[in-house]
Amino acid sequence: MLANGETAFEMARLIDHWSSGMTLFTNGPMNMEKAQVEKLQAKNIRIIETPIRALEHQAGYLQKVHFEDGSHHALKALFARVPFAQSSAIPKDLGCAFTEMGHIQVNDFKKTNVPGIFAAGDNTTPMRAVAAAVAAGTMAGAMINHELIVEDF
Ligand SMILES: Cc1cc2nc3c(=O)[nH]c(=O)nc-3n(C[C@H](O)[C@H](O)[C@H](O)COP(=O)(O)OP(=O)(O)OC[C@H]3O[C@@H](n4cnc5c(N)ncnc54)[C@H](O)[C@@H]3O)c2cc1C
Repeated sequence: MLANGETAFEMARLIDHWSSGMTLFTNGPMNMEKAQVEKLQAKNIRIIETPIRALEHQAGYLQKVHFEDGSHHALKALFARVPFAQSSAIPKDLGCAFTEMGHIQVNDFKKTNVPGIFAAGDNTTPMRAVAAAVAAGTMAGAMINHELIVEDF
């Protein structure tokens, strides 16, 4: 796992459920409380602080982490919390408001701040899961249908 600080501790205890024998790369001096480090070590999570120079892959499959000191570490997968970004500029162009984390701001009915524009799914929430996206899309669909009926009737 590639992380440091509070994020490293939170991610490590989450991912330790899925993947045992994990190594944490902090890419520089670790920035965690002593108690947190002790908890990670008690779960046999190895911590490597050496700064990273490069990630090596073959056809997109990770092979190694290369460190600034010339050493390397072979691996098959790397967990990391990459920053969230919208993949479409349409909501911004339409004037939709965004949360601090960059998600489209919606109310419980999936309405945005722009009349007639609804949003649902990953673009509105950090809770990324198919079931959540389907539920949000169902709500948005029902509310759009309702608005159209009210407008027409
Ligand atoms: C590697 C990975 C593993 C995952 N595993 C799970 C899992 O096990 N269980 C689970 O519940 N969830 C999982 N998820 C999360 C789940 O895939 C998402 O929460 C879900 O797909 C969100 O649905 P969505 O419709 O909001 O967005 P998306 O599925 O991302 O759909 C958005 C669509 O909009 C299209 N689009 C973007 N811009 C434009 C544009 N300008 N014009 C037209 N189309 C556009 C995109 O091409 C895409 O098809 C996983 C996600 C990833 C990346």
